[in-house]
Amino acid sequence: MLHTIAAFDRLGEENAFAVLARATALAHQGRDIINLGIGQPDFKTPQHIVEAAIKALRDGHHGYTPANGLLATREAVVRRTLTTTGVEVSPENVMILPGGKPTMFAAILMFGEPGAEILYPDPGFPIYRSMIEFTGADPVPVPIREENGFAFSADETLALITPKTRLLILNSPANPTGGVTPRAEIEKLVKGLENHPQVAIMSDEIYDVMTYDGETHCSLLDFPEIRDRLIVLNGWSKTWAMTGWRMGWSIWPNGEKGAHLYDKVRKLAVNCWSCVNAPSQFAGIAAIDGPQDDVEKMMRAFDNRRKIVVEGLNALPGISCITPKGAFYAFPNVSKTGWKAKKLASALLEDAGVALIGGPDFGVLGEGYVRLSYANSEENILRALERIEAFLKK
Ligand code: PLP
Repeated sequence: MLHTIAAFDRLGEENAFAVLARATALAHQGRDIINLGIGQPDFKTPQHIVEAAIKALRDGHHGYTPANGLLATREAVVRRTLTTTGVEVSPENVMILPGGKPTMFAAILMFGEPGAEILYPDPGFPIYRSMIEFTGADPVPVPIREENGFAFSADETLALITPKTRLLILNSPANPTGGVTPRAEIEKLVKGLENHPQVAIMSDEIYDVMTYDGETHCSLLDFPEIRDRLIVLNGWSKTWAMTGWRMGWSIWPNGEKGAHLYDKVRKLAVNCWSCVNAPSQFAGIAAIDGPQDDVEKMMRAFDNRRKIVVEGLNALPGISCITPKGAFYAFPNVSKTGWKAKKLASALLEDAGVALIGGPDFGVLGEGYVRLSYANSEENILRALERIEAFLKK
């Protein structure tokens, strides 16, 4: 990697933050803005989790914690992983980091260098490409297609692997599309990866519990044959409505090679953020071990809104939207509205007071789409749909 200003110049952005800033500025001017742009639950963190953090502070947990996370928090992640995947991982492979992003930062930094190729989903979370370019590696987009339900295609992914490929980034359930890759496709992908032992895999499973219509999440942890080169990204942000707490975890490869990687991330933590603050880590334990009623309530609300959004969008002129099976995003096709996606997103914010994100902010294949987050109230979603309809009919 080139540690020069030029490398920093290659860093991208997450446009959701810019849209949020613009929406906030317009709201400050007195405009009534409905924000369907930002990817965070509109719910508060459940109260028992907040109480656990307050108790930790009252109990005097004010100092540094180990760079890889408190053992108790890592053990909670082990329990949670067993519940959700049936796979028993070791706390020695679990790292606690300040959010989900630091895992992708560490993994991409480790495998990216000039001459290396890294495969990432397009459309996909914008930070993947940004970080790949930062390292000087070549970003190789894996097409995520509407006609495929916005799932990964094993054949298409495998066909992109070359001797230079170092890392494959997967994400299901997915941002920005809400796509869920079915187990059969993941099985096929894993089988194909056996022919490419030089390729490490980072599976971003941050939306793992957020699936609908009986769809289930298939974790890459389910495949012991790739466990010695698999990094799983997960965290508290989405599931327990904790985006601002900056709490994430990752599960690193097992075996001797995995231990080396783990130690490298631990060292990165020591150099960069030292540790995650103790109260948040105690809150993280409470989130995993405490009642999940609030999570279930949130998921029921998302499910209802998802149906409203999909039905409402499909009734709009020029717009079609497949039913997302996961996360809390819809990714409608707007190519028949006569608008370019980013222009449409910006006009909807400025003229109609509805914030959403243009698909091209998630990759070249995002042209013709916009991302709409349904982490907002039913009432606001209905009002937003009315405004979009009025705007399109103008
Ligand atoms: N991965 C995906 C796919 C996401 O959508 C996000 C957040 O939007 C993250 C990772 C980052 O999560 P965090 O806020 O915990 O860093």
